[in-house]
Amino acid sequence: MLSIAEAVDQSLSAAALLGTETIPLAGTAGRFAAVDAIANVALPGFDNSAMDGYAVRSRDLRGTTTESPVALSCLGVIPAGTEPVGTVDEGTCMRIFTGSPIPQGANAVIMQEDCRTDPGDDRTVHCTDSVKPWENIRLKGEDVREGDPVVAAGARITAGTIGLLAATGHNSIEVGLQPKVGLVATGSELVEPTSGLKPGEIYESNRALLASVVAQTNGLPTPYPIVPDSLDATVAALERAFAENDAVVTSGGVSVGDHDHVKPAIERLGGSLDFWRVAVKPGKPFVLGQVGGKPLFGLPGNPVSALVTYLLLVRPALLKMQGASDCRLPKRPGLLAQVLANQGDRRHFVRVTLDADGLVRSAGGQRSHMLGGLAKANGLVDLPPNSRLAKGDPVEVLLIEG
Ligand code: AMP
Ligand code: MG
Repeated sequence: MLSIAEAVDQSLSAAALLGTETIPLAGTAGRFAAVDAIANVALPGFDNSAMDGYAVRSRDLRGTTTESPVALSCLGVIPAGTEPVGTVDEGTCMRIFTGSPIPQGANAVIMQEDCRTDPGDDRTVHCTDSVKPWENIRLKGEDVREGDPVVAAGARITAGTIGLLAATGHNSIEVGLQPKVGLVATGSELVEPTSGLKPGEIYESNRALLASVVAQTNGLPTPYPIVPDSLDATVAALERAFAENDAVVTSGGVSVGDHDHVKPAIERLGGSLDFWRVAVKPGKPFVLGQVGGKPLFGLPGNPVSALVTYLLLVRPALLKMQGASDCRLPKRPGLLAQVLANQGDRRHFVRVTLDADGLVRSAGGQRSHMLGGLAKANGLVDLPPNSRLAKGDPVEVLLIEG
């Protein structure tokens, strides 16, 4: 049996960067930067006001209070988007708005709530408070300096990254291509959820489940028709899926049963394959194949095993194909609200709920066919073989929806 770490390494080594494309910034959320980008301008780009008010010299207002206001002579108005004209000298000020450039001579902004003008005379501004030097001024470059890195190659692009890139003068960025992933479900007992069930049949659920996690991994999933347990049908389905995708994920048909055709089908297609019994519960059988240089991930059919092996072994590879620098599942710390035990000799990824207070509980039935518990779970806790964790113990929860 292979350890999880060895299996992840092998899975990663079967995946290579697909390629890159340069696309408009607005469509890059969730994609991975293919290049380092730097700020073309500083942020802020110039000293500007953080408030609506008046640009002043702080020393003119030293000691000013409501009881002893100071009158300043207003030289003009600086609307946002304009360049100030003139200099604020002793005893003067200029009307200013949030984002307007600070005029020459001024070193603070007094907010308008601390000023008043008399009706009919907006040239005389009565200030009722003092301001410290640089108060209410946003300084050039205090956020980002020109030339600073704004995104690193391999980083996942978020809404914040997009805002930063746009603000520093980028309208497009080079990102990794999204892998097209064909989803093939095998099993003669499987039927589409749209039909009725005959005795012995079940509704097929892995393609929809896997399509959702592939999309969360930023891949482009395509489900293919259900494949009955026949070698010819499996070969035909895989051939089509490989022709149309960058990677193929199958479910079912990878154990050692008489009706398990995924491995012989890969061989028929001239591909290579590794079959592993990964030392993990749920999961165990897993096939890593390559056909025409494209990876095939053969997951076990039990829905929970399929999801867990996807998260542990396929997700990292799909991220690597996009150029991601961090291919690990995100995790959060939590405290156990109950005992969790693993009496088996394989690592057990226990389905859990992690609540807003950080408390961790079993999500219910833990056997590998049990979707009821899986549907309630938002994380997995990795329990070593033959271990027992007590109530109150700290644990790390791998997040199912990363
Ligand atoms: P297998 O890995 O093909 O031996 O399947 C293991 C178990 O998972 C069996 O009970 C199958 O009926 C079930 N199973 C396999 N594929 C699917 C699927 N796509 N949707 C739901 N259950 C499945
Ligand atoms: Mg089967």
